[in-house]
Amino acid sequence: MRNRLTEELRLLAFEHHDECVSCGYKFQEGDTSHLGYDIDDKPLYVCDKCSNKLKETAVRHVFMPRPYEIPPAESKLWRYTDFTKYVSMLSTKGLYFARADCFQDTFEGAKGLKKNKDKWDEYYLNFFREGIKNLREDHEFKYSDEEVEKQAKRLLGDLEHGGEIGKKRTFISCWHENEHESEAMWRLYSSFLENAIAVRTSYNSLYHALGRNPSINIGRVKYIDFQKSYAGVNDAFWHKRKSFEHEKEVRAILIDMRYPDKGKIIPCGLSILIEEVFVSPSAPSWFTQLVNDVNEKYGIKVKVSPSELIQEPFF
Ligand SMILES: [Zn+2]
Repeated sequence: MRNRLTEELRLLAFEHHDECVSCGYKFQEGDTSHLGYDIDDKPLYVCDKCSNKLKETAVRHVFMPRPYEIPPAESKLWRYTDFTKYVSMLSTKGLYFARADCFQDTFEGAKGLKKNKDKWDEYYLNFFREGIKNLREDHEFKYSDEEVEKQAKRLLGDLEHGGEIGKKRTFISCWHENEHESEAMWRLYSSFLENAIAVRTSYNSLYHALGRNPSINIGRVKYIDFQKSYAGVNDAFWHKRKSFEHEKEVRAILIDMRYPDKGKIIPCGLSILIEEVFVSPSAPSWFTQLVNDVNEKYGIKVKVSPSELIQEPFF
């Protein structure tokens, strides 16, 4: 194994995460996946059976399913926002990812309810105790019970610390998945409804606009009942409380270990991203022209439509 991990190989493994690119075998949790290069130095991501096709192995992984579900490629995603934030996106040519600890929802990255923490702690203490006891199984040396307890508590402490730190290292861009425009989202996600707009894209366009970046994961948020369950250690940012279910959120997540700021702007191909722009149902008539003018100034050629909510009924 040579650990030669090119961008091309990372992307191949990222995009084909669930299956062997050679035979199409669907990986099961715990399987080994092999990353490397064939005889022509072309990247390969394969199963055990196909690993003989590798001339060079870069790395092997124990397969774990993604902690989130990817929406269908054409699934429509919406971003309801203020005009000023829209202009900022155009002028920076980037998408703003907010740091997880800056969100209004104080449960961002939470594993569960505080009142249920004892059970969580006990589960992980047992998990660590077993791990520590079995660590030295082949050797004559055995940790004393006291030492096992001490080490298990230390690991639990590390886990808690990791959870807190994780909020400062996780950057998120939120989208609303819906075939149609949403009246509720206009009111929820714009501070001044008269000057609000909605950007419509699709999963596929968002993924490509962000440059098919294997460091950015895009998927659906899962809404769970924290009274009865917990989020996992590695998937907390993919879970929210049931009371947020109306958001039907798809989020793009990026981890940055160094970044100290409250958010970061990620370069984004806006002409790929923006498929259509809608102006708020409360917008004055001149507002559509203003959005068109701004788009033109920044070279964005997309249709700007009035909200479908202002269409008149008949009785
Ligand atoms: Zn295979």
